[in-house]
Amino acid sequence: MKLTQTQNSEVIIIGAGWSGLACAITLVKQGFTVRLLESAQQTGGRARQVQFKHFLSSETIDNGQHIMLGAYHSTLSLFKEIGLSEKDILERQPLELNLFSTKQPFIQLKTKNYPAPLHLLFGFMSMQGLTLNERFKIISMALHLEITCYKLKNDISVKQLLNKHSQSTKIINALWEPLCLATLNTPIEYASAQVFLKVLKDSFSKKNHDSDLLFFRQDLSQLFCLPAGDFINRNGSSIHCEEKVIAVQTDPVESNQFIIQTRKQSKKHSYKSKQVVIATPAYITKTLIRTFSSHKHTVNESLLKPANASLNYQYEPICTVYLQYPSTFSLAHRMMGFYNTTAQWVIDRSLTNQPGLIAVVISGPGLHSRLSHQQLSENIHQELSTCISNLPDLLSYQIIIEKRATFSCRVNIDQQRPQNKTQIPGLYLAGDYTNTHYPSTLEGAIRSGQSAARQIMEKRSHE
Ligand SMILES: Cc1cc2nc3c(=O)[nH]c(=O)nc-3n(C[C@H](O)[C@H](O)[C@H](O)COP(=O)(O)OP(=O)(O)OC[C@H]3O[C@@H](n4cnc5c(N)ncnc54)[C@H](O)[C@@H]3O)c2cc1C
Repeated sequence: MKLTQTQNSEVIIIGAGWSGLACAITLVKQGFTVRLLESAQQTGGRARQVQFKHFLSSETIDNGQHIMLGAYHSTLSLFKEIGLSEKDILERQPLELNLFSTKQPFIQLKTKNYPAPLHLLFGFMSMQGLTLNERFKIISMALHLEITCYKLKNDISVKQLLNKHSQSTKIINALWEPLCLATLNTPIEYASAQVFLKVLKDSFSKKNHDSDLLFFRQDLSQLFCLPAGDFINRNGSSIHCEEKVIAVQTDPVESNQFIIQTRKQSKKHSYKSKQVVIATPAYITKTLIRTFSSHKHTVNESLLKPANASLNYQYEPICTVYLQYPSTFSLAHRMMGFYNTTAQWVIDRSLTNQPGLIAVVISGPGLHSRLSHQQLSENIHQELSTCISNLPDLLSYQIIIEKRATFSCRVNIDQQRPQNKTQIPGLYLAGDYTNTHYPSTLEGAIRSGQSAARQIMEKRSHE
């Protein structure tokens, strides 16, 4: 293996997922020169395009169907910063949940055009498919959460929180469980109520547009990753794909400098920088930190801040089942929810110019993971045909299972999440798992990347 000459960069970011890209954009805007090192062939990490191969052709879909909420302010302002206009790339709809089941009644929640949180309270009040008593139980829980500012003395599971507020099994199955899986991708039995409440507070209690649903008009790479890359390159910085970082070390000669070793095809490269951001998922960050060698610090997680933070996470899967129907077919709603079924959320991709293509999201673990792809697609097609009267024959399908789609957002998770700054001056972490108080989401990733960048900027302002 050849080793090329060491090159210097002002900041090196390891990993070009949405957190790494957000960090780079924020720094580049402040005049920093950044080098982004990405092991994959393309940027975007877990939120990127992949190919859907039909018999004779192929088209781009997402590695997993994503949607956003109006409360994702950091993501929306980052889009603006690189010149993307919201109306060109997103469709915004006031929150409306249409929840179907093969055996249970249809339930609908539609927010009203009032200031928050009244828009939602009136929505709960007029929910279709629930009894007066069930609606009353939801409203009294919502009011209690408002009054207590969505805070808990001690973290508990979402299920415990719902039981505390006497939510019936029907309300839990039809409303709260799907919402918890959609936002935290963690089963209610062990999902953190505190993180769930943070998302509810940001989306439901501040401005009524915060609860809007935002749907992408393009695949995630075309929409954000490619324009983000152009922005970074145009501003004198660079992204290097297929360049895997294999070690991060301090320079034995200049101890305030890092040496980053990479492998690209069969060649080894090394880079020097005084500031490094590791923007990889926690399990990779952990292996990179193990390669860290310094005479001052032990080679383990003790370099994290706060001292009790850890990179030992459990993960939850997400399965996206893409079903291709004839192009004349479309869903009655952009998104349909399903409860007491394997399918959870079903999204019509006609917005991404893919008529007849439906993305079915199954968050978290479940028996579906034991089925073959063919069996699973047939089962989902059957479920949908029970609730959608005019569903045509299925033409083709593709299933993408991300086993480590998100970290498992468990009770007390916030206590273990590390800060961006580490104990090593100049070494930072970014990624959805860091302590943003948000679950594993695009918004969490972007907040983390921006926060790491701000700390580097702050350090420069003190020099
Ligand atoms: C199927 C699925 C559906 C989802 N749905 C939603 C949704 O609807 N809404 C939402 O908000 N969020 C959703 N998420 C979560 C969201 O995609 C993630 O939270 C976000 O993309 C995480 O970004 P990140 O930058 O923190 O990490 P990552 O995307 O994991 O980025 C890390 C990057 O580091 C690179 N890397 C790893 N090792 C190395 C190395 N040694 N050297 C160099 N580079 C390396 C990786 O290739 C990757 O590009 C979903 C995720 C999945 C998987």
